[in-house]
Amino acid sequence: MPLNSLQKRDLEVNWHPYSQHQTAPANMVICRGKDALLFDEEEVAYIDAIASWWCNPHGHANPQIAHAVADQLLQLEHVLFGGFTHPKAIELSEKLLQHLPQNHKKIFYSDNGSTAVEVALKMALQYFANHGKKRTTFIAFENAFHGDTFAAMAVSGIGFFTEAFADLMIQVKRIPLPQDDNIEFVIEKLQSHLEEGDVAGFIFEPIVLGAAGMQIYNPKHLDQLIKICKKAGVLCIADEVMTGFGRTGTLFATDQLSQKPDMICLSKALTGGFIPLAVTSCTQEIYNAFLSEKVEKAFFHGHTFMANPAGCAAALASLQITLSQQSQDARRFIHQQQGAFAEKLSTNYKVRNVAVQGVILRFELETSSNEYYGSLRNQLYDFFIAHQIILRPVGNIIYVLPPYCITAEQLATVYQVIEKALQHFGFAISK
Ligand SMILES: *Cc1c(COP(=O)(O)O)cnc(C)c1O
Repeated sequence: MPLNSLQKRDLEVNWHPYSQHQTAPANMVICRGKDALLFDEEEVAYIDAIASWWCNPHGHANPQIAHAVADQLLQLEHVLFGGFTHPKAIELSEKLLQHLPQNHKKIFYSDNGSTAVEVALKMALQYFANHGKKRTTFIAFENAFHGDTFAAMAVSGIGFFTEAFADLMIQVKRIPLPQDDNIEFVIEKLQSHLEEGDVAGFIFEPIVLGAAGMQIYNPKHLDQLIKICKKAGVLCIADEVMTGFGRTGTLFATDQLSQKPDMICLSKALTGGFIPLAVTSCTQEIYNAFLSEKVEKAFFHGHTFMANPAGCAAALASLQITLSQQSQDARRFIHQQQGAFAEKLSTNYKVRNVAVQGVILRFELETSSNEYYGSLRNQLYDFFIAHQIILRPVGNIIYVLPPYCITAEQLATVYQVIEKALQHFGFAISK
């Protein structure tokens, strides 16, 4: 495909994420969005079946959120958060704390998922430092993804994302994702890490590992691991950057745990996907560890745009929609549709590990290779785009994570195109 003029200008000046620019195809130009649709410069509509990297719950250019942002911008676009505050930050924190686990009492704002994680990790480290204890290691899952800044990258486990920086990272010990057949082994491994004595925190994506290809695991197993960590005085950090705001069947994935984490990281859908904003919530006990007559015990971390008023206004509007009956019904409908399609996939196609959690459906193609950006993956991606569906397979894993506002017809179209792709690439079971 020849490049159009916007694509040419883009490649002249822009460097895109996770892209090998020597071989990558040109980037799609999107000029407009409405609900679950994105439109290119020729008004061709694409169904956004991955909610623009999991951040958009209520549709593109949602007018309710857009107006909330516009009103806020005309009132106050920004004020520094050091020594100053503003009504929207107060209101948003109050609302979030109403819905977060009861032991959570304080909100620390930042800009994105990586910074939310970075803040949580630094808080955990300084919590122990302020108590005069030396605990500097973290426990994380193999295949976890927690972001791309340095500490967030260190606790992430997807190898080739981080290889170039391997010698420069904070100490992390890994445990496999618990499943019914390995939970005893995971517990043993966790306990042997804890016995070494220097563990500050356990960070995890609760119930679903997103970037690893929506790997779903049992909250009961996670409860067991958190309980063991808490007994050892280890701070537990739930990274809900992807799972937050209704994705997994409850408002937060942690709602499905009986053990409550000490910190929770939120971003992506926080503002309805409108404005970069993130939250790290924590318990009173953590906050108290930073109180002192000595200034150096304070948390010396901040970002220029933290608690940005427009971001807070977007988050308040988005939360209101998320909690509405209409949006809850929409999530339930998507969950049912995903479940029905999962059954169809299992019966008619060569797929495995088909699973649904909340609005998320994922399955794996029965292939031998599983390259993150392998050639089958790229062909599938191109096939979906050619059929006006935005899906980004992870290796041989395909997942559907739509905005909640997707219509029944649009969802049916996504399923039809997936079936077409499975037939085209030889994954239909012949009868
Ligand atoms: C996307 C993601 C992050 C990183 O968020 P950014 O906003 O891209 O920095 C961290 N944790 C999880 C679980 C994520 O899905």
